[in-house]
Amino acid sequence: MKMSRFVIAASFAVGIAVGVLFVAHGSFLIPSIVAQESDGSAPLVSPTEPREREYYTPNTKRLAPDEMRVIACGTGMPTTRAAQAAACFLVELGNGDKFIFDIGSGSAERISSLQIPYDFLDKVFVGHLHADHFGSLGELFIGGALMGRQKPLRVWGPTGPSPELGTAYAVQKLQEMYTWDLSGRVGLVDFRGYSIEVNEFDYKAENAVIYQDNGVTIRSFPAIHSLDGPVSFSLEWSGLKFVFGSDTYPNTWFLKYAKDADIAIHECFVAVPDLVTKMRFTPEQALLVGTQIHTAPEAFGKVMSAIKPRIAVAYHFFKDFDTTAGVNDRIRTTYDGPLSLAEDFMVWNITSDEIRVRMAIVEEATWAPPLAGAAKPPRGVADKRVFSEASGVSVDDMTYSDFIIGGRWGDVDDVLRGVYEEAGEALGREFPYPEDGE
Ligand SMILES: [Zn+2]
Ligand SMILES: [Zn+2]
Repeated sequence: MKMSRFVIAASFAVGIAVGVLFVAHGSFLIPSIVAQESDGSAPLVSPTEPREREYYTPNTKRLAPDEMRVIACGTGMPTTRAAQAAACFLVELGNGDKFIFDIGSGSAERISSLQIPYDFLDKVFVGHLHADHFGSLGELFIGGALMGRQKPLRVWGPTGPSPELGTAYAVQKLQEMYTWDLSGRVGLVDFRGYSIEVNEFDYKAENAVIYQDNGVTIRSFPAIHSLDGPVSFSLEWSGLKFVFGSDTYPNTWFLKYAKDADIAIHECFVAVPDLVTKMRFTPEQALLVGTQIHTAPEAFGKVMSAIKPRIAVAYHFFKDFDTTAGVNDRIRTTYDGPLSLAEDFMVWNITSDEIRVRMAIVEEATWAPPLAGAAKPPRGVADKRVFSEASGVSVDDMTYSDFIIGGRWGDVDDVLRGVYEEAGEALGREFPYPEDGE
């Protein structure tokens, strides 16, 4: 076997040499040379059998009972771009549990590309309340319910130095912001998923257990970023430890509680020169934001050298052809251990003996994923009454006024009745056509 490998390598070298000639003639034969044994008999690779590929296609691989899978659903910045959503990491465990850590702007689209039933995506842990860390919460809340979440969305996040600076306040206001949206949906859709349960915990608590269920323990510890309030998280399950820093200046709590992590995700901010040339920051602002509010790449490396995770994950920079090498070089001045420079849809499969890093290949033009529970038809006015109690909106206002009804064009009535009849014939039961305004 060793012999034939050597021959392949030699053939490859020859192929490159002769390939130049073949290119000139419009064909390039290296692949066929490489795929053949030296004597030209059986090919090393089957021309008809499927092969394992080095990427991850969501929902096509079983998660082993002792395996953790982490998927980057956002690795970027508050300045939005199509190439990278903002902070969001999905953790999937072999026991079936799934957890979302931060839900930054743009990440809800990334999550929908994974086609995971939304009932499984009901637990979100928010490290701090910057838009690039919870800006997609509203989309996961509304869109997730519409795409099949049949239970309230559950959010865990820190208190702040005053009630207005805490997670409960932000989530309450978010729900209030959607009062018109919710008032228009209630009664028309299965409304079980259209509420948020908030679990606020003390941002100063050190390594405090904030979640414990089904063998999973999630702890919180303080972070240093922008104002009082931000936290970092650890998740421990089945002998594996995941740590997520959210945003923070290098801090002693992280050094202490992120130790022994199998995977440690920590911010690694845009390098200061790039903040000036690409983000248009003044040098003063770039130095302050890039080294004092956030963790500069060189400092990220020092943090990882101190905690020595099985794999260090750097995120929170724009990872482009002309920025990646610079960030890597800066990290490598202070850290020489295992490292991933994260980008969206990077995937880590972690067991006690192996860490495998790949990219996910996902669909973009997705619809709703499969439902985890049986669908229920809307409950009409019963749901409206419950929502009215909670929101203060009167049930009468959850429908059209006579003024608006008066503007309906009656000439489409016949074709729309036809759609009802079509459904009745297809499904073998009667669907009563709604009266005006119902
Ligand atoms: Zn932040
Ligand atoms: Zn951030």
